[in-house]
Amino acid sequence: MLQVLNPATEELVATVPAATPADVDAAVAQAAAAQRGWAAAAPADRARLLRRFAAVVDGHIEELARLEVTEAGHTIGNARWEAGNVRDLLDFAAGGVERLNGRQIPVAGGLDITILEPLGVVGVIAPWNFPMPIAAWATAPALAAGNAVLLKPAETTPLTALRLAELALEAGLPEGLFQVLPGTGPVAGNALVEHPGVAKIVFTGSTRVGKSIMAKCADQVKRVTLELGGKSPNIVFADADLEAAAAATPMSFLDNSGQDCCARTRVLVQRSAYDRFLELLTPAIEEIVVGDPADERTQMGPLISRAQLDRVRSYVTDDLAGIRGKAPEGPGFWFPPTVLTDVPEDAPCAVEEIFGPVAVVLPFEDEADAIRLANATEYGLSGSIWTRDVGRALRASRAVRAGNLSVNSHSSVRYWTPFGGYRQSGLGRELGPDALNAFTETKNVFISTEA
Ligand code: NAD
Repeated sequence: MLQVLNPATEELVATVPAATPADVDAAVAQAAAAQRGWAAAAPADRARLLRRFAAVVDGHIEELARLEVTEAGHTIGNARWEAGNVRDLLDFAAGGVERLNGRQIPVAGGLDITILEPLGVVGVIAPWNFPMPIAAWATAPALAAGNAVLLKPAETTPLTALRLAELALEAGLPEGLFQVLPGTGPVAGNALVEHPGVAKIVFTGSTRVGKSIMAKCADQVKRVTLELGGKSPNIVFADADLEAAAAATPMSFLDNSGQDCCARTRVLVQRSAYDRFLELLTPAIEEIVVGDPADERTQMGPLISRAQLDRVRSYVTDDLAGIRGKAPEGPGFWFPPTVLTDVPEDAPCAVEEIFGPVAVVLPFEDEADAIRLANATEYGLSGSIWTRDVGRALRASRAVRAGNLSVNSHSSVRYWTPFGGYRQSGLGRELGPDALNAFTETKNVFISTEA
């Protein structure tokens, strides 16, 4: 049994049966059968059903958002956005069904065409940090491309996923096409990874588990997309609008209590602007409202679990200098907004993904030093560049080795633009105009005109 706790109160919200390998076997068989009919259906019919699914989700935004607040401790504003994101992803993917075009390539003596075929059954292993959007990032385009989807949510956050599966049926999606298998990673997750009937795994979570999944997928040359960790830089040049950069910094790593793979947790500030920047940042951190996630005014809620709280605490020892915000006392997995200063570049808190409301500030000398520091990580997911110099913004955007950058902004994820990591932040891309292609095989057919 999985125990779902409210991270703001530590109260038991629900117990959910954990899927066994036998459950996974049965789900794969049912999904494979449903997928054959789904792939054979007229594209317009598949698109219509996905749009209907989006409409049903739209009718349940508030319910889904409240569920997310309760099981994940997300602020209500964020949770509403997340449920709306599921709707938008489904709508966007539905628009791709009739546009999943192959190509016609010039050849002598015939006609050459490519056909984009669905993979079959896709396994999606989702994390707890954004349970709804990350599940939908893979599920919506996979379904649109003609696949069935088996979704394994994280142990701590199965409830929104289970509700989405019910809403899919209500919308008229065929039984078995989209199933949710709550369970533990090593049992249900691993069963999906090892199952020969699962053609692809889309995994989002820790780099450690991602590597082990990639290795296991290699046994069957199973397709795999990985969205892993990050330790993203927020580079502030002295010529930037320092007020704007400092004002935007807190939520660039505190959103979702820092449990965000794109969190800008390494704030790199040009030395000549360092003191002024910290002067501006200090009140901005101290003013962050941390508390009941269901309260509309709250900017930051609790961490997901006791384990995550212990992990964050292990990085922030009392001897470290910095700026500390406020957090509630008492039950709940609370940790205050924290900015660490005067830490060595290679300190664990400066190089490892903490996944909590903690950033480090490091000074740099010049543009070359900024790029060196920005790239001094095994990760490469996101990053921000603050400068008024357009040439510098472009040079830095090219030089930082990461998949998602923003200039004078911290935005990075839109469902219609590609998302994914360099190096140990991942493999493959999700979202964007080519999202459906990641769930297809390309078949090339040559038809002779000579016979
Ligand atoms: P995790 O990688 O263990 O879990 C992510 C998902 O993988 C969950 O659904 C889990 O059940 C599943 N899983 C775990 N072991 C598995 C296995 N052997 N086979 C198949 N599936 C398996 O992450 P976590 O333990 O929940 O968090 C630990 C750290 O990972 C965090 O502190 C953070 O640094 C990182 N993390 C990153 C992201 C991200 O979005 N990049 C998300 C969650 C966690």
